[in-house]
Amino acid sequence: MNIALIAHDKKKEDLIKFAQAYEYCLVNHQLFATGTTGKRISENTKLKITRFQSGPLGGDQQIGSMIAENKMDMIIFFRDPLTAQPHEPDVTALLRLCDVYAIPLATNMGTAELLIRGLERGDLKWREYIQHD
Ligand code: PGA
Repeated sequence: MNIALIAHDKKKEDLIKFAQAYEYCLVNHQLFATGTTGKRISENTKLKITRFQSGPLGGDQQIGSMIAENKMDMIIFFRDPLTAQPHEPDVTALLRLCDVYAIPLATNMGTAELLIRGLERGDLKWREYIQHD
């Protein structure tokens, strides 16, 4: 599965801890991330991550374009709901595309845990039958 990991600045520590806790599962998948999030997770785990631009510089849009091309299966995006983001329109666009294409999306740790457990149980295996060109 192709999985994108994104965290706003105040949530990056949480996502690093999450990636460490589920490293045994995430290691079996192709991981993508916005620039700084990917760098931080790479520094703190052994996971291999394809990094895009930093979020404010277009990284969220790059991940959105993967969704539009049917190349993304899951998004884990730890948002900071208490801080204004300069790239809020990009964030909104990414969340919208998840809904357009019915991509499983977790915007907080609680939902992310459920998605990972579903991933482990094979609940998302149906996505493998979707054409990834
Ligand atoms: P970053 O971008 O990983 O480059 O910090 C995340 C975001 O704010 O969308």
